[in-house]
Amino acid sequence: MSEIEIKFMPVGMLAVNCVVVKKDDQALIFDPGADPDAIKSMLNGAKPVAVILTHSHFDHAGAIDELLEEFDDCEYLCHPECDRLAQDPHTNLSMLIGGIPVAISPATRTIEGGQTLQLAGIEIETFHVPGHSPGQLCFYIKDAGTVICGDTVFNGGIGRSDFPGGDGDLLVEKILQMLNSLPPQTKLIPGHGSSTTAGYELKSNPYLR
Ligand SMILES: [Zn+2]
Ligand SMILES: [Zn+2]
Repeated sequence: MSEIEIKFMPVGMLAVNCVVVKKDDQALIFDPGADPDAIKSMLNGAKPVAVILTHSHFDHAGAIDELLEEFDDCEYLCHPECDRLAQDPHTNLSMLIGGIPVAISPATRTIEGGQTLQLAGIEIETFHVPGHSPGQLCFYIKDAGTVICGDTVFNGGIGRSDFPGGDGDLLVEKILQMLNSLPPQTKLIPGHGSSTTAGYELKSNPYLR
């Protein structure tokens, strides 16, 4: 069986971790926040079959339209709530934080938490983890022992819950549910900052107790 390769790189002003997952000559791109040229160089010739958003905030989504224009047949997937919020410059926070309105195109297909996806020959389980943003999903790639978390759990922190639609108690509850269902050595790639593991965060994250 061929290997799954996962790389991530901070992009844009808010240093969002854009994650590229590759298997053979196909790739998935999570949270292409900015800098499409740098993202394309991460692909290293692989063909992206889907661009996937963890949640609707524009700093995670800003390069979607450019990538979809360049790569025909590439899907754009996210939760239905994320899809709705990302299309509006107010609810995707581009007006509030960036000052420049950005409207993201509608998703080509929406996905719910609890669903298992098959994309680029890779099986991906989805967790719905609202509280930072409605419709936030985390993506568990079991064969690589890795979760792409977006702005839910960070290395030593959790996502903000003071934006519209935020709920701090709900966020903690959903993060704990997810982490407790994972093997402790599972790698977590957060939306910002360095990677960590499920076991380490359960033991030491001050926001999760
Ligand atoms: Zn966010
Ligand atoms: Zn973020």
